Amino acid sequence: MKVHFLGTAAAEGVPNPFCHCEVCEKTRHLGGRNIRSRTSVLIDETLKVDYPPDSFYHALRDRIDLSKVEDLLITHTHCDHYNPADLEMRIEGFAHGIDKPLHIYGNDLAIQGCRLALPTLQEGKRFAYHRVLPFKEVQTQTAKITPLLADHDPMETCLLYYIEKDGKTILYGNDTGWFPDETWEWLKTKPLDLAILDCTGGYNSNKRSRNHMCIETVLEVQSAFERTGILKARGQIIATHFTHNAELVHDDFVEAFKPYDIQVAYDGMTVYL
Ligand SMILES: [Zn+2]
Ligand SMILES: [Zn+2]
Ligand SMILES: [Zn+2]
Repeated sequence: MKVHFLGTAAAEGVPNPFCHCEVCEKTRHLGGRNIRSRTSVLIDETLKVDYPPDSFYHALRDRIDLSKVEDLLITHTHCDHYNPADLEMRIEGFAHGIDKPLHIYGNDLAIQGCRLALPTLQEGKRFAYHRVLPFKEVQTQTAKITPLLADHDPMETCLLYYIEKDGKTILYGNDTGWFPDETWEWLKTKPLDLAILDCTGGYNSNKRSRNHMCIETVLEVQSAFERTGILKARGQIIATHFTHNAELVHDDFVEAFKPYDIQVAYDGMTVYL
């Protein structure tokens, strides 16, 4: 299975085009892996998680044919993950040579937002909507998925996704702070090949940070995985969803996680399971 990290930043992107903080200035100077667009991953070209405003740029940069995406999983409706108006470019008359709908999975807010943003007549032709519920498994066009509860925006049922495909399992774990108890309980019986974790914060003494994870929380999750056997023996952890406010650039994160064998995602990174 191919897991392609299209974007690895939180909402502002790195550098934030409006910002003159030290990290943003350093990022402009260094370029390369320090440059981050808003977070999304693409699995085997056909399953995409989230639709950030940078999706057009991702398609150009990495030569992605977005018409091949059959399943789009939405974690929550924050603007760095969800941009339904832009999906209008997939409707009849705007996009040619497509004969299947894009299946969109998300909470009620995400699905209702798509129905309001996109022409009703395209429902069934170019879009198919699936409201999903926490801990209820769904067979999609390309994988078996289970939405899990996140600890993120208290005004929305923010979701993480457990994805099973070709005998491999992935936890798509952002945006969230320390997982809610129900999610930990559910994960106990589901060994992972790959956990993708939120690392919006930098160094922070809080091992169980709320709303987003930081370096210490990611390490604490790794310890909990080890204690409970949630991660398979050769399972990988990859941190993503970074901000300038962490006051660290890519190499600083690499340095911080190196002793723990945790990988730091960068835009365009690809891993194979
Ligand atoms: Zn986010
Ligand atoms: Zn900045
Ligand atoms: Zn968010």
